[in-house]
Amino acid sequence: MVSGTKRGSLLGTLGLVAALAGGSAQAQDPYARERESLLEEIKAMARETGTETGRAVFSVRVMAAMAKVQRHRFVPASYGPLAYANRPLPIGHGQTISQPYIVALMTELLEINPSDAVLEVGTGSGYQAAVLAELARQVYSIEIIEPVGKRAATLLEELGYRNIETRIGDGYNGWPEHAPFDAIVVTAAAPRIPPALVAQLKPGGRMVIPVGAEGDVQFLHVMLKRTDGSISTQRSLPVRFVPLTRSN
Ligand code: SAH
Repeated sequence: MVSGTKRGSLLGTLGLVAALAGGSAQAQDPYARERESLLEEIKAMARETGTETGRAVFSVRVMAAMAKVQRHRFVPASYGPLAYANRPLPIGHGQTISQPYIVALMTELLEINPSDAVLEVGTGSGYQAAVLAELARQVYSIEIIEPVGKRAATLLEELGYRNIETRIGDGYNGWPEHAPFDAIVVTAAAPRIPPALVAQLKPGGRMVIPVGAEGDVQFLHVMLKRTDGSISTQRSLPVRFVPLTRSN
């Protein structure tokens, strides 16, 4: 009887703790519901574009990463209400945070393993880097516009990501000190695939990059470097990215 009462009160306490924790989590994340409906939109769009992308269904791991990263933290405060709309948004300096479906698609096409080292060219808001960091061992991300890169670095640190290293510089040349990479993602469009990035891709590795000259139609490309070093490149969806600029 006594023990029953004790257990009862312990359970009661645990229940209260759980309720409080649930309440505070909701208070910290007022966008949880919006993020859930964004995930449904991404799934629907993946189905619609499946013939072109070869991925009608995104993996559980990628969708879990998309569910976890709080996009509202990566958009300017004034765009908070649009943070979970499936569209790109301005982040200042003429740059944009990519459309969430495109972030999910690029991540899916990279087929990241937990032991992978990934290079991202074009840190921007840091959102894609955070999604990658949920899936990979280590993410290296380069941004050419200093204030943009610094803001992302500060935010990613504040959010507690310990497996993302950022740097200011021209990602056209990759990041030789950390090469080779299991996966490379470029989030700005280049007229052709930068040779240094091909060189820095591990055999067995994959690169996802939008290709197209400024003003031209761009297509997402998926490059696979086979274990014998030979290359195959496939054209995927038409996309619209900001141009990959050069430092010289
Ligand atoms: N991945 C970003 C999207 C950023 S938009 C996100 O999740 O928010 C593309 C970014 O690429 C811009 O911030 C732009 O400044 C940067 N960029 C353009 N050319 C670059 C280059 N040569 N090297 C590194 N970054 C570059």
